[in-house]
Amino acid sequence: MLQLKNIKKSYKVADFTQVALNDVSLKFRKSEFVAILGQSGSGKTTLLNIIGGLDHYDSGDLIINDKSTKKFKDTDWDAYRNNCIGFIFQSYNLISHISILANVELGMTLSGVSKKERRQKAIEVLKKVGLEDHINKKPNQLSGGQMQRVAIARALVNNPDVILADEPTGALDSKTSVQIMELIKEIAKDKLVIMVTHNSELAHTYANRIIELKDGNIISDTNKLDKQKVDKKYNIKKTAMNFLTALSLSFNNIKTKKGRTILTAFASSIGIIGISIILSLSNGFDMQINKFEKDTLSSFPITISRQATEMTAEDMMTLTPDKTDSYPDTNVIYPYDTASSLLIHKNVFTEEYLKYIDEINEDDVVGISYLRTMGLNMLVKNNDKIEYINNLNMISLPKQLKQNEQSFLESAYDLLDGSFPNDKTEIVIAVNEKNRLEKSVLEALGIDVNKEEIQFDELIGKEIKVILNDDFYINTNNYFIPNMDYEKIYDKGITLKIVGIVRGKEDNMLPQIVSAMSMSQGAGNILYSNELAEYIINENANSKIVLKQQEEDYNILTGEKFTENATKDDTLAYLGAKDIPLLINIYPVDFKAKENILNYLNEYNKDKPDEEKIIYTDLADTFSTLSSNIMDAISWVLIAFSGISLIVSSIMIGIITYISVLERTKEIGILRSLGARKKDVSRVFNAETFIIGLTSGVIGIVVARLLLFPINSLLKDLTDLNNVAVMNPLHVLILITVAIILTLIGGLIPAVIASRKNPVEALRTE
Ligand code: ADP
Ligand code: MG
Repeated sequence: MLQLKNIKKSYKVADFTQVALNDVSLKFRKSEFVAILGQSGSGKTTLLNIIGGLDHYDSGDLIINDKSTKKFKDTDWDAYRNNCIGFIFQSYNLISHISILANVELGMTLSGVSKKERRQKAIEVLKKVGLEDHINKKPNQLSGGQMQRVAIARALVNNPDVILADEPTGALDSKTSVQIMELIKEIAKDKLVIMVTHNSELAHTYANRIIELKDGNIISDTNKLDKQKVDKKYNIKKTAMNFLTALSLSFNNIKTKKGRTILTAFASSIGIIGISIILSLSNGFDMQINKFEKDTLSSFPITISRQATEMTAEDMMTLTPDKTDSYPDTNVIYPYDTASSLLIHKNVFTEEYLKYIDEINEDDVVGISYLRTMGLNMLVKNNDKIEYINNLNMISLPKQLKQNEQSFLESAYDLLDGSFPNDKTEIVIAVNEKNRLEKSVLEALGIDVNKEEIQFDELIGKEIKVILNDDFYINTNNYFIPNMDYEKIYDKGITLKIVGIVRGKEDNMLPQIVSAMSMSQGAGNILYSNELAEYIINENANSKIVLKQQEEDYNILTGEKFTENATKDDTLAYLGAKDIPLLINIYPVDFKAKENILNYLNEYNKDKPDEEKIIYTDLADTFSTLSSNIMDAISWVLIAFSGISLIVSSIMIGIITYISVLERTKEIGILRSLGARKKDVSRVFNAETFIIGLTSGVIGIVVARLLLFPINSLLKDLTDLNNVAVMNPLHVLILITVAIILTLIGGLIPAVIASRKNPVEALRTE
């Protein structure tokens, strides 16, 4: 069945060529026990390796069942070794980190025999060689004779046609040698056994054919064969190791060096730890910002003032007003427009626009507040003495579109004493967060401000009169002057009554925003309803002073000419003639409502020429995009740093895999002798890096998760925010995948190196 035709093989060492086999021709029977004798270096091992397909001849041919092997590819040789050949080596060549049973099963694993069948067959042959009691031991727990029995069992288990044994008893004592020889002789009954030995006594006792080699030539053959029988239907099944086998092989190997593996995985997980902490932080901050936006920023009003800028805060940051180079090499000056003069837009509030604002969907707004320049003519009676008061930190509350709703005041302020207003003439005093109120206000209301503390009820019930224009101003030809006879006009005034003391709710931004609209922000205010403001404007609109002012081209209160900074419109607004506000603030109900409002406002500008467009400012928006952009930038820089550590660690994995390849060279040889393909060998190492990558990814995530506890409690101390850093499950998956991919890449080159190893040389390493 096997035939060698003029086989030649030589090895080149430096510039010297060593002929190992010199024109060897041989024919073998289907079953016989052939012993090959010869001195050391005569070419016996080379001959055996060539027969076993582990090494390849230079010229000649090896014919297997009438089939030339000249055109054999690597995979054909692999399949041939796996199916037809069983090797037994002098030094046993067992894989030390897996059990006896697994060692015996390995060849079958490669050819894809099912687990159950594998186990059954392995146990069967192990019984045959007398080792059934040792199947779960590791090779180094056995004696030399026992190890050789394991090797014999492994060679037999796939039921090959040819058993090749290279000095199988060379390392055994004579008694054990005899037992092994008996076993091999038994096998030779129905198989071709070719055994190399230099013990001619053993050879003559057991073998039925003895071939002697000398310097690569056959010098004698005791039982030559001339005619061969040929088995035509001979068919070799290809081998393939599946990834799970590779994994379990690597896993067992890794188990024997747990410490190193864990250290490697931990070192390479540092990058993952860094990146996942950074991602968690930025993810968490994003969530915090979103929450903050929804909770707080949504209550930030949309502001529409008479002058607006079309630039976003971002634009302003990146804006450089001129395009010339810095430090130009010229001796001229380049004039340029300032950014502000270029980008300020004048919003003209027409009646049409104010009406449009009034028609905003009432479900979307909490309220709309108007900042007006109207002056209120106010009188107050303190201790029977009537005094004129000018500025009382009066602010009109936002207009509420929806009736029967909880009022703006009640939703944003706590009532400290008295009651909330029920009527447009009822007003409240809003103290600041420290219960403070400006002295000038208290003084105007007749309170002794030298006292440390003022009781609420000293203020509640106090009345203020607002005198309409026609009762307040006297016409003296060209001018109007205030009527100083307060006693007379006091009773004609509209009576405003302080009914309660309020204070902005904690954590509510609205009171501060409202207060920011007055000159005395933060110092406490007197709040009155928008209804009252509208009522007074309505009453004053047709007053004599207003009608007269509309006719004249000078300020009828002072006699001064109008200028660009003191226009007729300003004076009319002060007198309450027109309800044209200085500033409009629209308070959205929530985030969604805000979108609706913005869409509504944009709709107004559609198809309008630029100068008629009304541009609004969304403070919350510029604020939040700015902050999240900064967060993004910081995250990317930190991720880049951790990325570098990730790459460094995958290079390290490469080195460690390479060391592992060096350490496992023998195992590579054994696998190849059992018929493993090059691919299978690289698969074993890829499986190893896969395990390391997975471990490092998991360690990285777990450590990062644990680190989030102290990080979060630190952030809690620093920023008072709870659970800022939050891991995104998607990031976890991506990071573990990245860890695996990077380590696989790192281990790829060493794995290829491993697979390219010459199996004969690999077996020779110790
Ligand atoms: P034996 O098994 O009979 O002792 P070998 O077949 O191992 O002899 O070796 C035959 C000859 O070929 C020896 O001279 C040996 O030095 C040489 N040889 C074998 N393998 C190699 C190799 N890989 N590189 C160089 N020389 C080799
Ligand atoms: Mg040898």
